[in-house]
Amino acid sequence: MRIRIIDIPEKGLYYKIDDSKKSLKVFDEEIPILERVSGELYIRKHEAGRVSVKGNVRVVLELTCSRCLKTYRFEIVRDIDESYHPIDDIEFGERKHLKSFELDTCYYSEGELDVESVYMEPIYLAIPMKPLCSDNCKGICPICGKDLNEDFCDCNRGVRDPRWKVLVELKEKLKGE
Ligand SMILES: [Zn+2]
Ligand SMILES: [Zn+2]
Repeated sequence: MRIRIIDIPEKGLYYKIDDSKKSLKVFDEEIPILERVSGELYIRKHEAGRVSVKGNVRVVLELTCSRCLKTYRFEIVRDIDESYHPIDDIEFGERKHLKSFELDTCYYSEGELDVESVYMEPIYLAIPMKPLCSDNCKGICPICGKDLNEDFCDCNRGVRDPRWKVLVELKEKLKGE
């Protein structure tokens, strides 16, 4: 959905986010959406073509835990408070000379604001690189495949913790006797 800046009334524009897409693509992974992308935006025009967007966005995703491989609900709620500047004023060759504060700035081009990217960007940024169903998820045993959150196993997983090494050696010694 693109909004033409020229169509934004002086008093501003209210935009209700109600996006029924069923999944998000992050790299090669398709992440299912459990509760649709919703929220609201208030878009206003200012001097020098600046456009401000304030509001919030919410979505519930189904992530896969990187340790135990179970799926879990992950709710994202974000406030949005962003300014967009027209980029058409800047010659292409000049873009690489932008000062760092200008690179932090958001831009729109061709007189249109891409509303979907306004509310999807904070969602993409909130998706963890290494999703975990809980901070203390124990994961699955790489040898027997048991979910270690639910059960123990006797596999020797080559634990590197020296305190365990002593116990493992002791156990081996007792076995040998
Ligand atoms: Zn887990
Ligand atoms: Zn095991």
